[in-house]
Amino acid sequence: MPEGSHGNLIAGEWVKADRMIDNINPSDTSDVIGSYPSGSAADAQAAIAAARAAFPAWAAASPQTRFDILDAAGTEVLARREELGRLLSREEGKTLPEGIGEATRAGQILKFFAGEALRLNGEVVTSTRPGVHIEITREPMGVIGMITPWNFPIAIPAWKIAPALAYGNCIVIKPAELVPGSASALVDILQRAGLPKGVLNLVCGKGSVVGEVIVNSPDIDAVTFTGSVGTGRAIAAKCVARGAKVQLEMGGKNPLVVLDDADLAVAVNCAVNGAFFSTGQRCTASSRFIVTEGIHDRFVAAMIEKMQSLKVDDALAAGTDIGPVVDAAQFKVDLDYIEVGRKEGATLAFGGEVLNRPKKGFYLQPALFTGTAPTMRIAREEIFGPVASVQKVKDYDAALAAANDTEFGLSSGICTTSLKHARHFQRAAQAGMVMVNLPTAGVDYHVPFGGRKGSSYGPREQGAYAREFYTMVKTAYVQG
Ligand code: NDP
Repeated sequence: MPEGSHGNLIAGEWVKADRMIDNINPSDTSDVIGSYPSGSAADAQAAIAAARAAFPAWAAASPQTRFDILDAAGTEVLARREELGRLLSREEGKTLPEGIGEATRAGQILKFFAGEALRLNGEVVTSTRPGVHIEITREPMGVIGMITPWNFPIAIPAWKIAPALAYGNCIVIKPAELVPGSASALVDILQRAGLPKGVLNLVCGKGSVVGEVIVNSPDIDAVTFTGSVGTGRAIAAKCVARGAKVQLEMGGKNPLVVLDDADLAVAVNCAVNGAFFSTGQRCTASSRFIVTEGIHDRFVAAMIEKMQSLKVDDALAAGTDIGPVVDAAQFKVDLDYIEVGRKEGATLAFGGEVLNRPKKGFYLQPALFTGTAPTMRIAREEIFGPVASVQKVKDYDAALAAANDTEFGLSSGICTTSLKHARHFQRAAQAGMVMVNLPTAGVDYHVPFGGRKGSSYGPREQGAYAREFYTMVKTAYVQG
């Protein structure tokens, strides 16, 4: 294949697709990172057939084999974290330290699940019938279809691929069409670490083409999806209709509550990090600041002061705090929401300007709205950009009610020095993850990740809990 030109990995071979697309750097739209496949339905079908054929042998492989491959791949990812982080930042637009951090996380995930391959255990239970022996064991699900979004181009593929392999499944993965580079590099590392041909297959391309085949194929036993609510719900309906297991991680409208007794510096750091780092393009980003009356004005003033100091520039440039928005379509969505907020009567207290930089990219000054009513669209709908709003509330009870007043339930945060309110919020927040004096975004790699209400569907991802999705349980009764 010519340099800069990439393929799909099908049955252990890198093969070119009939249609290729350019991977463009959002910090500099004249920079073409490479040419990647826009795979066809036939490519997806070939990948599924390869995974099916590889499954019996991989399901029977020794846990030591799975450990060795995942551990070796993790070692390579960690050794190459700077290079992989640079590729990631170049194709997605998060800053270089964020890109390197995400690549590091991917390596750590591979190593964690290497260990999990050895730790898979079952249960022995005493039967109610004398002489009968009961064993509860876990078996691999089969062939897993994986559909991933653009905002974590290496971590999300890693946290789906690693447990699937650890527990003996084969894989067909379709990364978001915007960011094929990081997933391709990860898959290449895993393949070279010693995976048998066909165990892991990568088909880059459109959701409406490759994704559709994966979701609808009777040879895909389970589908794990991360992305938007609309796409996720449509995928779930198709999977349920044909009886396939499905797991969805979707959007959020995550609140950060700031109480009168909060440490202001802690609250501002949590708010700026949670709302604007990674350009606000995190499902766990804080987009609603719910602030009690006594601290409201000081919080807003301190936020504006901090936001003025943030450097929005090329993701790869030293000193950049916030990189560009990922592409023209998301840029338009962000600008449209800023307009919606203005029209609804919220006050744009800071930012929201399109920024010009020497290189042409999608640069947007982070935006903060105040005077936001809970009924406004900017307070209810996921924006997925560097746009956040402040709602003023009377007291803790009103703050808790406002925090829970959403169709989503991914991550919910509070800044307070009151142990009573912190512990109460931890119990009462209707979210899969609760953060106390920490940003709503930014999680560990070895514990469960996921949400409630409209944010998630099916078992949790990550940590030992990942086995709920990637294995199925068998109960055996034995006499004699
Ligand atoms: P999308 O839902 O648009 O896309 C996600 C993936 O689904 C992409 O690979 C996409 O392909 C694919 N897809 C699109 N249509 C179909 C289809 N008909 N059948 C099968 N697959 C399809 O989300 P984005 O990529 O825009 O990601 C942003 C969203 O992801 C946000 O809403 C965010 O909240 C959510 N997210 C949630 C996370 C969580 O864990 N809760 C983490 C990260 C993001 P294509 O490349 O063609 O678009």
